[in-house]
Parts: sequence; structure tokens; C-alpha cells
Amino acid sequence: MVILTINYKKCPKCGSENAIPIVYGLPGPELFKKAETGKVKLGGCCIEENSPEYYCNDCEYEWNKEEVTDKAYKKIRGIKASVGGFSRGYNKVTIDLTGLNVEWIICGGGMEEVAHQKSIDVQAAESFIDQLKSVKLLNWKRKYESPGILDGTQWEVEIIREGRNIVKSGDNAFPDQWDAFCSAIGKVAGRKFE
Ligand SMILES: [Zn+2]
Repeated sequence: MVILTINYKKCPKCGSENAIPIVYGLPGPELFKKAETGKVKLGGCCIEENSPEYYCNDCEYEWNKEEVTDKAYKKIRGIKASVGGFSRGYNKVTIDLTGLNVEWIICGGGMEEVAHQKSIDVQAAESFIDQLKSVKLLNWKRKYESPGILDGTQWEVEIIREGRNIVKSGDNAFPDQWDAFCSAIGKVAGRKFE
């Protein structure tokens, strides 16, 4: 099951969910009917790159998925991520995008716990958020699993946001963008996340 954390149909201006899609192109009789009954809004014949895709019946605001996506990623206040295994130990990193601080803990696997901290600048925080967007973190599934492997790699990512936090995790299975995500963490934290 895919949980979509981004609700594109929710008006980014007033928060109303009373929105309808905007349809482009020359409408046929059926589409005209739909438009008359307020199920869709006709956007005209030409669709451009930044054309709005939704219309709010309550405040008349028009927007597209890109705008909602940007807004959702701007709400991320931090990331807590861990990766590792029972025998080799875990890397746990907390990236605080408000306090501009990174904490790194290495633990488990018979090692003594080691913690490091470093501060980051606003630019690093912003480019990290851009990278979270490009790996589509918010659209990852809740859980990735590969049954039948006893010891291996476990990971968890907690997305700290305004409001509710979101947790994604995996057991020997990863989203397609996992490597890109790890290198984004590595870049902001200054150590290899693996
Ligand atoms: Zn609205």
C-alpha cells in the first residue's frame, strides 16, 4: 500500500478540500456537462508548463502539484535516520534543519557508542531539502521488506515536520532512491551514511 503524504487536492491557500481539477483542451459535450455541474473547471485549450491543475471552490485559488510538493518539503524541520545491522552496528544521524545541527551516533555491533556533532549553514540545510525532494522522500512507502533474510541491513527514516511526524523503514529492502538519499545525508553530515 502506498501512503501519499502529499494531498495535491487540498488548497494551499485556504486549506479547503473542496477543489476540482482543471481540464485543458477542446472540451466535448461530456466535459461541458461536467464543467456545468461544477465537477471540473475548463482551463482553455493550451496547457503550459506551469499551468494550474486544481481550482478551489471556496477561495478561487488555482494551483498545481509542483506548488503543493514544494510546500510539503518546506514543512520538513528535520530528519532522523538510522542504518545498520545487528552484527555491524548502526549509524544514527539526526539532522536538525531548524537548529542547523547534525548529530551522529555510532552504536551497537559490540562497539562503544560514539557521538559527533556539527553545525551546518542555512545553505546546506536548504540544499538538503532540495535533495529530499529529488529523491521523493515523502512518496516513499511506509515499509520496505525482503522476507527470509535473518541478519542484514535495517533502516529507518523519521521525517520531523510541523504537525505529525512520518516514519519510513526497511528490512533488507530499499526504495529506488536509497543510494541518492544516503549520499545526501553523507553530504550534509560530512560522513558516509551506509
Ligand atoms: Zn482555497
